[in-house]
Amino acid sequence: MKAVAVFPEEHALRLVEHREPAILAPGDVVVRVLDVGFCGIDREIASFRTGSPPADSPYLILGHEALGEVVEVGSAVRRIRPGDLVVPTVRRPCRHETCRACRMGRPDFCLSGEYTQRGIKGAHGFLAERFSDDARWLQPVPRELRDVGVLTQPLALAETAIAELEQVQKRLPWAALGETGGSGKRAVVLGAGPVALLGAMALVVRGYKVAIYSHGGRGGHGGRGGHGGRGEKAEFAESLGAQFVRAEEEKLDSLVDRTGRIDVMLEATGATPEALAAMEHLGRNGVYLMTGIPGRRGAFTLDAGYLLHGMVQRNQVIIGPAHPSAEAYRAAIQDLGLFSRRWPGALSRLISSRMTIGQAPEAFRQPASGLKQVVAVAD
Ligand SMILES: [Zn+2]
Ligand SMILES: [Zn+2]
Repeated sequence: MKAVAVFPEEHALRLVEHREPAILAPGDVVVRVLDVGFCGIDREIASFRTGSPPADSPYLILGHEALGEVVEVGSAVRRIRPGDLVVPTVRRPCRHETCRACRMGRPDFCLSGEYTQRGIKGAHGFLAERFSDDARWLQPVPRELRDVGVLTQPLALAETAIAELEQVQKRLPWAALGETGGSGKRAVVLGAGPVALLGAMALVVRGYKVAIYSHGGRGGHGGRGGHGGRGEKAEFAESLGAQFVRAEEEKLDSLVDRTGRIDVMLEATGATPEALAAMEHLGRNGVYLMTGIPGRRGAFTLDAGYLLHGMVQRNQVIIGPAHPSAEAYRAAIQDLGLFSRRWPGALSRLISSRMTIGQAPEAFRQPASGLKQVVAVAD
């Protein structure tokens, strides 16, 4: 079968003919791949800056954001049946007997750091015609989410951050009075890519007043929209009932003066220095959620003394959840259904293009378009 693979040693990226997956254990499932989304991590792997193949392979099959249809299940599989739509999670356990997290089936909290990640680190990904996996790593998706289920993994990143936010908010004195969730609270989403926009939707449905703060935003495709136009992303934000604030037009301190204290910041920029420096505008008791990983672009300077002083004085918390749990995927699938009912057609607008598997190797080499690019492996 066809798959898209990166050869780190050769510095090559191409279609390969890979062996067909099979049921090797009673808990296994074979999945026919429908859609695979790609993101910044895939581009970094495709440019040989990160990513590692399985130990016995010269290449790594790409793809960690997938939606597929079950074609065959092992004799012990009960929860999933042929014909079901599923989304696979990404991280798989390490082999250490002493890693409590992995032994409990929670590689999202792996203690050894020797977990694998499908399509990223030590395990093949899903950008292939079919893949197999243990049923426990597959989350069922309702048929009505066929066209947008590929957004589950990026939304699960935001869901993980929001679930941890809710844990932290339980410390507030009014949580004991039953005042939880986002009602009346203000959130600023930093960035306007797929994770940012999906995260903004997740915050809006929880009752937050949301502002999306980002550079650009006029015209999602090559700057179309022009000066004076509101632009695709601004319109999208407004259709959710969120504000879109262009960083070129308003500084964060002015936004805070205008709208009031910021309770939550959701960073979804890939952790740019600017987004991290925005922490200084977080309000008292506020929580700063990171979904990006800094440092791959090289060192940068932040006034850590100033920022940390503020954090302690203002009782703030920074959370950088490493990886979504199965529960975060389930929350994402549930929220995709909720978003589809609340904003019909909105999720499809987050997908900028669908391409064939043959077009994928070239697309990985192109600069990001800003919205989610999807490889339509099958109908
Ligand atoms: Zn991704
Ligand atoms: Zn582990």
